[in-house]
Amino acid sequence: MDLSQICLNKSTCNKFGNIRKVTSKPTAMTNEVIQSSHEDGTFDYDLAVIGGGSGGLACAKEAVNQGAKVAVLDFVTASPQGTKWGLGGTCVNVGCIPKKLMHQAALLGESIHEAVAYGWQVPDVNKIKIDWAALTESVQNHIKSVNWVTRVDLRDKKIEYINGLGEFKDPHTIVATLKNGSKKELTAKNIVIAVGGRPHYPDIPGAKEYCISSDDIFSLGYPPGKTLVVGAGYIGLECAGFLNSLGYSATVLVRSVPLRGFDQQMAAAVTSEMEQKGVTFHHRTVPLSVEKLDNGQLKARWLNTETQQQSEDVFDTVLLATGRYALTKALNLEAAGVTCLSENGKIVAATEQTNVAHIYAVGDVLEGRPELTPVAIHAGRLLARRVFAGAPHHMDYENVATTIFTPLEYGCVGLSEEAATERYGADNIEVYHAYYKPTEFFIPQRNIRNCYLKAVALRAAPQRILGLHFVGPVAGEIIQGFAAAVKCGITMEQLMSTVGIHPTVAEEFTRLNITKRSGQDPNPASCCS
Ligand code: FAD
Ligand code: NAP
Repeated sequence: MDLSQICLNKSTCNKFGNIRKVTSKPTAMTNEVIQSSHEDGTFDYDLAVIGGGSGGLACAKEAVNQGAKVAVLDFVTASPQGTKWGLGGTCVNVGCIPKKLMHQAALLGESIHEAVAYGWQVPDVNKIKIDWAALTESVQNHIKSVNWVTRVDLRDKKIEYINGLGEFKDPHTIVATLKNGSKKELTAKNIVIAVGGRPHYPDIPGAKEYCISSDDIFSLGYPPGKTLVVGAGYIGLECAGFLNSLGYSATVLVRSVPLRGFDQQMAAAVTSEMEQKGVTFHHRTVPLSVEKLDNGQLKARWLNTETQQQSEDVFDTVLLATGRYALTKALNLEAAGVTCLSENGKIVAATEQTNVAHIYAVGDVLEGRPELTPVAIHAGRLLARRVFAGAPHHMDYENVATTIFTPLEYGCVGLSEEAATERYGADNIEVYHAYYKPTEFFIPQRNIRNCYLKAVALRAAPQRILGLHFVGPVAGEIIQGFAAAVKCGITMEQLMSTVGIHPTVAEEFTRLNITKRSGQDPNPASCCS
C-alpha cells in the first residue's frame, strides 16, 4: 500500500498549535471511506475522544503518533457519596491501581505475622493494625501523581485536554459542559467513545443514601469497620479479600454463584480460601434494604432466594459491587445516530466501529468484551493505527488473561472447564490438575488446601491447551507468561517437555501429569517429586 495515501491529508498532519480546520475530503486512510455529513466539510480535529481513561488515552496518544490532531474530553461526575477524582479514568483512580495497592497492603499485613516464624522480632505482633488514614493517604498521593503525569503527557504530546462532560450535537459535533457550566463546542472528523462505566446500584431502599461502591472505598475518609459487600464478582471478592486481611470483618452476599462465568472449581478454591481467612459468605441471597440507625451504623436486610428466609445484621459500611453500567446516557447518542443497548447502555461494535462509520467505541463501553484495562488500551491503540495509518490489525479478544486478587490470587487464560466441555464435549477434552505446596507456605505452616491448578486441553494429541487456571501466590505474574504460550497454541506435550524453574510455584504447570479422567490423587507427594 502507498503510504502517502494512507496518511491523513498532508496539510492536517504533524502540525498542532491552535485549533485549525481539518478537511473532510475522503482519503484512503481506512478501509471504509468515511463520508462527512458536516455542513462546511471542515473539522477542528482529526479525532475527538470522549473519555480520558485507559482506552481513550491510549487511542489518543497513538493517533497523535500517527500524525493526527486530537482532543480528549474527560469528566468525572461525583458518586452518590460525593467522591470525585482526576484525569485517567477508572483504572488509575478507582480501579486496578488503588485495588492493587490495597491488595499489597493486605499481603504485607499477612507477611508481618509470617515474618515471626522466620526469626524476625516483631514487637507485639498480635497488636499490629492498619492505619486506614495513612493507607488511603499513600494510595491517594500516588493517584494524584499519576493524574499529574497524565496531564503533562497530554500537554507534551499536544493533545488538547478538555475537562468537560461531552455530548453529541450532531454526528461530528461534540458539546462539552465545563466545570463552571460553560459550554465548548468542537467538531471532529472521527470520534471515539471511550466513556467506560460506573457502579450499578440495586433498586433497594437506602442504596444510594447509605451505601458506598468501589468509587468510594479507596479514598474513604474513615476506617470501613465491619463491612457488608453485596455482589460476588471481581470487585466484590477483591474488596472483601483485602478488607478482611486489613483486619476489617467482611461479609459477602452472593446472588447466584461467586465469579459467575469463571471456572467454578477455581472459584470455589478462591472462596474457600477467603472463608478460611475469615470472610463470611451468604449464598443465594439478595439485598432488601439498608437503613441508617441512630448510632450511625447500617442495618442491612437480605433474602435467601432458596429458602425465602429473611436475615439482617448491623454493619459499619455496606459496599455495593453489583456490576457496572456503561456511561452512554449522557452522550445524547441519538443526535449522532449511534445505537446502544437499552438494558446496560453498552455499544455493539464488533471491530470497534459503531453503526455510524466515523464513530468508534473502545473499552468498557463495548458490549460482550472483557472489562479490563489492557484490553481497552490494546483495542484503542490498534484502532488509532487502523484509522490513521491504514494498519490492518484488529483486536483479538480471545485468550485474554486475567487475575483476581483475593488476596490469594486466581489467574487464568482461555476456557474454563465448563466452557470447554460445552464447546467441545466432555469426551473431547482432557483436564490435567494438581494440588501443590508452595515452598514459602511451609514456614509457618500455611493452609495449602486451595493451592490448585489445572490445564484444560483437547483430548486428541498433541492436546492443544484451551485454558490454564492457577490459584496461588503471584498467580497474575505466572499466568501472564503462560498466556503468551496459549496465544501461540501451546500443547500439553510442549508444556510437559518444558523444564521448570525450581523452587517456584510457576513450575507446577510443567509438572502437570494427572488427568481428572484417571481418577488419580492430584495431591502432591513431596515438594520435589
Ligand atoms: P474508563 O477507564 O472508565 O475511562 C472512562 C473515562 O471517561 C472516565 O474518566 C469517565 O469519567 C469519562 N467519561 C464518561 N463519560 C464522559 C463524558 N460524557 N464526557 C467526558 N468524559 C466522560 N482491570 C484490569 O485489567 N485489572 C484490574 O486489576 C482491574 N481492577 C479493577 C478494580 C475495580 C474496583 C474496577 C472498578 C475496575 C477494575 N478493572 C481492572 C477494570 C478497568 O478499570 C477498566 O476495564 C478500564 O478502566 C476501562 O477503561 P475505559 O477506557 O473503557 O474506561
Ligand atoms: P461482575 O463481575 O459482573 O459482578 C457483579 C456481581 O454482582 C455478581 O456477583 C452479580 O451476581 C452481583 N449482582 C448483580 N446485581 C445484583 C443485585 N441486584 N443483587 C445482588 N447481587 C447482584 O461485576 P464487577 O465485580 O462490578 O466487575 C466489573 C468488571 O470490572 C469485571 O467484569 C472485570 O472485567 C472488571 N474488574 C477486573 C478486575 C481484575 O482484573 N482483577 C477487578 C475488578 C473489576 P450474579 O452473578 O448472580 O449476576
